[in-house]
Amino acid sequence: MIPRDVDMTEPARIRIDGACLCGHVRYEALIDPARVGICHCRDCQISSATAFRVGAPVPVDDFKLLSGSLRVYVKTAESGSRRALSFCPECGTSIHGSAVENATTLSLRIGTARQFAQLVPQQQIWCRSALPWLGDLIDTPRYLLQTRESRIPDSP
Ligand SMILES: [Zn+2]
Ligand SMILES: [Zn+2]
Repeated sequence: MIPRDVDMTEPARIRIDGACLCGHVRYEALIDPARVGICHCRDCQISSATAFRVGAPVPVDDFKLLSGSLRVYVKTAESGSRRALSFCPECGTSIHGSAVENATTLSLRIGTARQFAQLVPQQQIWCRSALPWLGDLIDTPRYLLQTRESRIPDSP
């Protein structure tokens, strides 16, 4: 049973902050951790140059650029909508994506957030293009660092 004093209409939002790889861009944002998700779309794989992107929606008013500036690339997504993809002009780190005009929400690329490890994804979209080997990674040899000596004992 839900206690009466818990307001279920207001998401429990938390303040996060992050920076790009070179430190030119720094930001803070208010996000709802229940809406953190993974996107497996091909555009996210390419622009992040990795297996998938982790993001969270942020109302534009809840995102604040603390330093630096953003460069924008407009891409027509697989869904047909045009997306403004913002990144650091110095190091290329992705910061957020949004609608091109009258954006009310940003999709924040939370891999840049200091709190990233605590922001557990709650859903996955565009699984149609998800990499088929993602679920098999547990069966690969794993190392704490980069050297052979750091092999994790219970890894294959
Ligand atoms: Zn940068
Ligand atoms: Zn995507």
